[in-house]
Amino acid sequence: MKALVYHGPGERAWEDVSDAVIEEPTDVVVRIDSSTICGTDLHILKGDVPEVRPGTILGHEAVGTVVEKGAGVSTLEVGDRVLVSCITSCGRCRFCKERRYGLCTGGGGWIFGHLINGLQAEYARVPFADTSVYKIPDELSDEQVLFLADILPTAYEVGVLGGRVEPGDTVAIVGAGPIGLAAVLTARLYSPAHIVAIDLDGSRLARAHDFGADVTVDNGNGSAIETVAALTGGLGADVAIEAVGVPETFELCTELIRPGGRVANVGVHGHPATLHLETLWIRDVTITTGLVDTFTTPQLMKLIAEGRLDPTPFATHRFPLGETMSAYDTFADAAATHALKVVLEAEPTAHGPVPADEELVGAGC
Ligand SMILES: [Zn+2]
Ligand SMILES: [Zn+2]
Repeated sequence: MKALVYHGPGERAWEDVSDAVIEEPTDVVVRIDSSTICGTDLHILKGDVPEVRPGTILGHEAVGTVVEKGAGVSTLEVGDRVLVSCITSCGRCRFCKERRYGLCTGGGGWIFGHLINGLQAEYARVPFADTSVYKIPDELSDEQVLFLADILPTAYEVGVLGGRVEPGDTVAIVGAGPIGLAAVLTARLYSPAHIVAIDLDGSRLARAHDFGADVTVDNGNGSAIETVAALTGGLGADVAIEAVGVPETFELCTELIRPGGRVANVGVHGHPATLHLETLWIRDVTITTGLVDTFTTPQLMKLIAEGRLDPTPFATHRFPLGETMSAYDTFADAAATHALKVVLEAEPTAHGPVPADEELVGAGC
């Protein structure tokens, strides 16, 4: 089979690898029907995630079809269409019993394309299948559910639920990349009074408006604090969601927040950020952090099935799976290509129709 293999910082190749096989009775092997690339994969390629060993297949987001199952798998059958999530759950450890699957100590957590071979491949071995994959209703296309593998639950759980967004709140979202936009989309589920998207890139801010932000701020001139203050009688945002992962944007969130407000950090940080306790301590500000647990995935899938949530606008580019190398180039150059998520598609199956009225961009089209 073929897969996208990491060969150390800056080195990747689409190449022949050993077939994915059942190793434990709780495994399944899936044929990958659709996969996608994450900002985290780019971090790995920069060498920022040293625990990823050269030789590892990348990718942690996919929709696939079960082609083989271990003797211990009881809830899945060959032929089932499943969402394979960025988070795996052993189902038995203390944290899995608390639905905090991201912290799994029984061999799960974020393992695909990290500690074990990932999902940017023709086939993949999926451990703890009974407790980790989600069956997909027939009426939903691959593309409708693919982004449930990471960005939707990440933004919803770590941002919107972490920040305890409530009806009528003013929510400031710093960063309008895929995660920030997913926070815009899922914050709307709570009917906030205002969603303020803050970024430095005009095209991303235009997207944020399309996704449901009613106010957008290009903070190139530092006007975010003033804009949020004007919307809130001078108090500041009820909730600030950090969706970039650099010190400046975290510190901006702590300046945007009202007394008693909540800062939810979603961004993945590579450097220390300053925590200004000298000004925050007296303002009763709550700060939350976290890795996604994906406990909301079934809830989000139901909202998609009922037409209450539509993540398909994240798919800006599509490539055949065999052109994953080009897809990486497009995704990595998002400033020029305006890519949000690139969809890697295996040979067409009976599922996953692409809406006919959408503009298709990319090498596959
Ligand atoms: Zn990811
Ligand atoms: Zn566990």
